[in-house]
Amino acid sequence: MQWGLRVALHLLDPVSCLLYSCLWMIGQNMKKPAVFIDRDGTINEQMGYINHVSRFVILPGVVEALMLLNENGFHVVIVTNQSGVARGYFPLGLVHEVHDFLDASLRKDHVTLDGIFFCPHHPNGSVPEFTKRCNCRKPRTGLIDQACRSLEIDLQNSYAIGDRCDDIEFARRAGVKGILVKTGYGLGEIKYLLPHSTAKPVYIAEDLLHAVQWIINVEKAAENR
Ligand SMILES: [Mg+2]
Ligand SMILES: [Zn+2]
Repeated sequence: MQWGLRVALHLLDPVSCLLYSCLWMIGQNMKKPAVFIDRDGTINEQMGYINHVSRFVILPGVVEALMLLNENGFHVVIVTNQSGVARGYFPLGLVHEVHDFLDASLRKDHVTLDGIFFCPHHPNGSVPEFTKRCNCRKPRTGLIDQACRSLEIDLQNSYAIGDRCDDIEFARRAGVKGILVKTGYGLGEIKYLLPHSTAKPVYIAEDLLHAVQWIINVEKAAENR
């Protein structure tokens, strides 16, 4: 019998069918929802361009928020635009240095980040290597595509949190629920930009911790329904 035919017959065998569907279901169950979190103004204090690690100051409640996500089965993924690289304000290495610092300080507090994805590009930059119209600068969704290639993400039940309307537009384009926080640029965005924005958040939170607590309450309520 030809090899291809033998495989086809084998696939039709009811026991194999059952086995394959079980494996498929296990694969689906291994997928976890993610919370895609903006960096500047959401995780750390908004201080213009973070061009030195000393300007990176983690906001109150952030450690607790990320710990809650760790404990409640969410992937914790940071997604950030760092156009300062394309503009020549700081080198690519500085972004890695800041992220190593963030990762190390969270680890000390027993918090795990599942991924940090950033866009170093800008269409009007001054560093040729990073000057382009890319698909990873938020509100475009390339950073979520990158995350989905390295993590098993249940996108349908995922969220994005940020301090700018562009973070909510990013959520809308990716098909995840967007939450706006009042830290960073939040208050001004809510007052002046949100009324004219087509993408609306599912919730407006005081800060990252309140956003995460809201998500967990919503998910628990859904489970008990
Ligand atoms: Mg921000
Ligand atoms: Zn990019």
